[in-house]
Amino acid sequence: VKLISNITKMQEISEARALEKKRIGFVPTMGYLHQGHLQLVEKSVADNEITVASVFVNPTQFGPEEDYDEYPRDLDRDLDLLQERGVDYVLYPDVEDVYPEGFATYVQVEKGTDVLCGRSRPNHFKGVTTVVSKLFNMVKPHRAYFGQKDGQQLLIIRRMVQDLNMDIEVVACPTVREEDGLALSSRNKYLSPEEREAALIIYNTLQKTRERIEEGERDGWALKKAMEEAIKAEPLANLDYASIVSRDYLQELSRIEGPIMIAIAAFIGSTRLIDNVWLEVE
Ligand code: AMP
Repeated sequence: VKLISNITKMQEISEARALEKKRIGFVPTMGYLHQGHLQLVEKSVADNEITVASVFVNPTQFGPEEDYDEYPRDLDRDLDLLQERGVDYVLYPDVEDVYPEGFATYVQVEKGTDVLCGRSRPNHFKGVTTVVSKLFNMVKPHRAYFGQKDGQQLLIIRRMVQDLNMDIEVVACPTVREEDGLALSSRNKYLSPEEREAALIIYNTLQKTRERIEEGERDGWALKKAMEEAIKAEPLANLDYASIVSRDYLQELSRIEGPIMIAIAAFIGSTRLIDNVWLEVE
């Protein structure tokens, strides 16, 4: 695997590979990789002649009080994991090169970005869509791989790619979980053993809600209330939101119908975790 920090060099490599008619798959990450990321990488390596992964902890998607400085980093370990899986290039740009002095252009999706995670993290998705657009321009991929774990992010990126006519196929990959159901996340590392136990309330509540819908419950507010109560009953958990939304513009549903996402965000101790499940409801 080749480590590339120079953005122009990355663009030259991608252009040369594309001229050779090679398809480029791209997996953007913030590093500290786990099997959730590696699944995306494995799919890209299987589907494309060339795979580029990026490792970039993007400051513009973190709020002022958030964990940008503490976010876990281990580039050497990440490079080993990516090399083992046959990744060709790892883009690892400097923050100063991505956001040089005078930087003033942002990409903003105007629907679905002020709800769920967008409500408690006001500029988060603006940072995400901006950096993903920039990374797309650096890597020029044919396909880009994203996890369903960050369901709102995935839907917003799909919207951006469609609205801006970006010639890139967005590939969604299922959420990878621990054996007991907890979604893998780089932030799970922050959890104490007691918090790790308590964190399961998120997945269990999503599953319970899925079951109730499958059994015929269609009252969105009743389901939401039950989710809120379940999270509040866990002493180590502090609810951010529990919502059932349509997957087009992420509006909250009073009546459960169509392609939906059940989504929860909660602080477990001081660690903010998110998870979701997708359902098609007749
Ligand atoms: P991050 O490094 O957290 O920005 O995540 C990079 C990519 O990996 C995003 O597309 C995430 O949705 C995806 N990802 C993170 N955790 C998981 C997981 N447990 N299962 C599937 N995809 C994941």
